[in-house]
Amino acid sequence: MKLIKTVDEFINWRNQQSASIGFIPTLGALHNGHLSLIRASKKQCKITAVSIFLNPTQFAANEDLSLYPNTLEQDLESLRELKVDVLFFPNQQEMYQKTGAVNIPASELFKKLEGKSRPHFFYGVTTIVAKLFNIIKPSHAFFGEKDAQQLYIIGEMINKMNYQIILIPCPIIRDQNGLALSSRNQYLTKSEQKKASIVYQGLMHIKNHLNRGETNPKILKKIFIKIIGETPELRIDYISIACIYTLEEIDKINGEKLLISTAVFLRDVRLIDNFTYLSSDI
Ligand code: AMP
Repeated sequence: MKLIKTVDEFINWRNQQSASIGFIPTLGALHNGHLSLIRASKKQCKITAVSIFLNPTQFAANEDLSLYPNTLEQDLESLRELKVDVLFFPNQQEMYQKTGAVNIPASELFKKLEGKSRPHFFYGVTTIVAKLFNIIKPSHAFFGEKDAQQLYIIGEMINKMNYQIILIPCPIIRDQNGLALSSRNQYLTKSEQKKASIVYQGLMHIKNHLNRGETNPKILKKIFIKIIGETPELRIDYISIACIYTLEEIDKINGEKLLISTAVFLRDVRLIDNFTYLSSDI
């Protein structure tokens, strides 16, 4: 695996490649969720490029940037094992001083769901992903459905900015109890991780009621709130039943494509999870 730390060196390497390049941007602290994206790229593309960059602009002052798990040695081992072709591992100066500014079109989607609690977040994410796209110039980009809103926003950005990049959504990877894998799970003890899996169970209760024909989002949300409420360590930030395209909350379910998503705190660890529900399922 080639390890490249500077933009100039990456561009130089990139200029010598003509095959398809699958790209997986990450913040590091890699787990099986990340690795599943890499495997998908290895299957579809000749070359697989991964970036590890802990992007400061997607963290607010009160968030966990300085505490974010750093497992670089282990990450390198996993990437080598999967035979990733190139790891781009820049520092902040490379990404914010040596790389040209990008002008991201504003989007209504930035303000919804995650954006309500974290208004800075999608400005930071789109800025860094656009900068990375400009350097890596991938043919394909692999993003996880775990961060569903991020996935839709990147899709919208690719369209609006005319990037010639095929966006490949990848399914959520979970642990044996259903907890969606996340680098932040490392902050939790094993028994806390088990409690955190109640978030997934709560979402599955909503799904069961949808399957049985429940069309009132208020009732569905109440079911979730009750389940989470039974575990005092958990605190809901939001539970949303929204149109998958606009991310607007739905008043009555009537054949739309839905994104059911949530953010729940366990102590100060913010866990997100979701599932999509297609109209044909109703
Ligand atoms: P992050 O390092 O958290 O920014 O994640 C990098 C990429 O991995 C994003 O596209 C995430 O959506 C994806 N990802 C993170 N966790 C999972 C998971 N449990 N399953 C699938 N993809 C994931």
